[in-house]
Amino acid sequence: MNEDTLALRRQMVDICRRMNSSGINQGTAGNLSVRDGSGFLITPSSLPYDIMQPEDLVEMDFDGTYVGRRPSSEWRFHRDILRERTDINVVLHCHSVYATTLACHHKTIPSFHYMTGVAGGTTIRCARYATFGTQELSDNALEALQERKACLLGQHGQISLGENLEAALWLAIEVETLSRIYVQALTLGEPPVLPDDEMTRVIEQMRRMSYGLAPDAEGVADVARRRT
Ligand SMILES: [Zn+2]
Repeated sequence: MNEDTLALRRQMVDICRRMNSSGINQGTAGNLSVRDGSGFLITPSSLPYDIMQPEDLVEMDFDGTYVGRRPSSEWRFHRDILRERTDINVVLHCHSVYATTLACHHKTIPSFHYMTGVAGGTTIRCARYATFGTQELSDNALEALQERKACLLGQHGQISLGENLEAALWLAIEVETLSRIYVQALTLGEPPVLPDDEMTRVIEQMRRMSYGLAPDAEGVADVARRRT
């Protein structure tokens, strides 16, 4: 195992443990993959993150063959998303409570709050239900992720994507927080949504700020300027 791969494996273990400590993951429900060389690394099936070691991560090829432990039962959507979405390198899946609450009602998150834009559009869609681990679930997830970096999975959970591991974890936590706010807001009735032209402005501003990657907004016009 070369140095770069070992460093990536260690970072994956760190992100998995932070999925637990941030509260977005319960037990062995979640899974994580990252592009590596001509294939990808993915978390193994049924191994708790607190005892998982870098060498336990599974090396997979896009043809579905693997080396090492048995991969997560959700390897199909990890493989298909990494293959189709060359704009991202990481797929993170979990059953975070509020995102899953909305997914149980097949609710798409509308632009009731400007942060809906973090996933790249005016909504965060909910994919149609299919049995876990199936090709149908993977197809439904890819459809819901069109032009988005996150989606809910009907009666199942959420998927967040990132250019790197930190960005994917950040987005998954944002989706969970936004879901929690939406569930709370719904207790007072369906909240109003921001108009599309405002969301276009928000999404463009987030894009320029590399939102989630460089939250200090260096290089963005109209932000506070450092005194020289
Ligand atoms: Zn799941």
